[in-house]
Amino acid sequence: MSATPVVSPVDSHNPEKSELIALLGASVAELTAWVQQQGQLSYRGKQLHEWIYQKGVRSLSDISVFPKNWREEIAHIPIGRSTLHYRTVAPDGTIKYLLQLADNQIIETVGIPTFGEGGKGPKSRLTVCVSTQVGCPMACDFCATGKGGYKRNLAVHEIVDQVLTVQEDFQQRVSNVVFMGLGEPLLNTENVLAALKSLNQDVGIGARSLTVSTVGIRDRIRQFAQHHLQVTLAVSLHAPNQALREKLIPSARAYPLEDLLSECREYVEVTGRRVSFEYVLLAGVNDLPEHALELAKCLRGFQSHVNLIPYNPIQEVDYKRPNRDRIQAFVNILKQQQIAVSVRYSRGLEADAACGQLRASNN
Ligand code: SAH
Repeated sequence: MSATPVVSPVDSHNPEKSELIALLGASVAELTAWVQQQGQLSYRGKQLHEWIYQKGVRSLSDISVFPKNWREEIAHIPIGRSTLHYRTVAPDGTIKYLLQLADNQIIETVGIPTFGEGGKGPKSRLTVCVSTQVGCPMACDFCATGKGGYKRNLAVHEIVDQVLTVQEDFQQRVSNVVFMGLGEPLLNTENVLAALKSLNQDVGIGARSLTVSTVGIRDRIRQFAQHHLQVTLAVSLHAPNQALREKLIPSARAYPLEDLLSECREYVEVTGRRVSFEYVLLAGVNDLPEHALELAKCLRGFQSHVNLIPYNPIQEVDYKRPNRDRIQAFVNILKQQQIAVSVRYSRGLEADAACGQLRASNN
């Protein structure tokens, strides 16, 4: 990587950081400013943008439309693409990738194809589940990611790269991105916001097809709302009362359920978007009829949708997934209480690529 200090387009708003990290994540306008800084004509910015986002070029020296001398001069400047460390395909077509970053850290990304009607039609959608941190500091009891500890936040280019990597591998346009991989997105809000903008404007994914999932960090949902984005906010609730939530999610102790729900209400008011609540179903722990009733009470009059996620097993803990009857009974109670609900059976279970099974390793 270059030691030459140049102002990065992606960090141009932060004058303290003067080292170029990567070009990926920068807009046409930022890339245009950068090529001009390099003494080139402005139209080269548009070319650079196309080669980075559409052609998926990995080295500036491969941009054949650039003059040879200049290409050599800038060849050392990183675009910010990861390298593939490991790839595994689950029987349902879900692909899990372990990607190696410039500092050798490994992260996980999942590509989830959705087939047409009855599973027979053409591939209709491709969803990417991206990581936002290396590891996760939240340590939720039922989640594999937290068991491996936390290393650092991901930079903007490291988030956008994951989407391009899956798109290139599937040779299909990515239709949806869910920020549900390793890490807690709202502990990395600035880079997550910049990545959302780039995915929307540079990669071309509709804002409504982008979903950010959070366990809830005090004041961050409120701050997120101020950006008036059309993206979907998903909140990992997992329990209908404070006592139970604290047992499952250590960070809930410092940020009570009541405060979390009131920030979510503000989110709905400010953005006009409903909030999705995720609720992992753990047999005998949070899946009883009284939990469903209590959950309905919490969410009454709230523009929301509940996504029930039957627990995906991980090694370190011995929670169990409830059987189908129990899950259906929970659904029925919520429906009777007029709560919008769906059950999300995770994809990629066999490849340890399902919700909560992600960790930075291939075993
Ligand atoms: N930190 C963010 C992003 C992770 S998203 C968040 O907590 O929302 C992944 C979703 O899968 C979260 O709702 C998470 O709580 C859930 N999850 C974690 N472990 C799981 C498991 N073993 N089985 C099913 N879902 C799990």
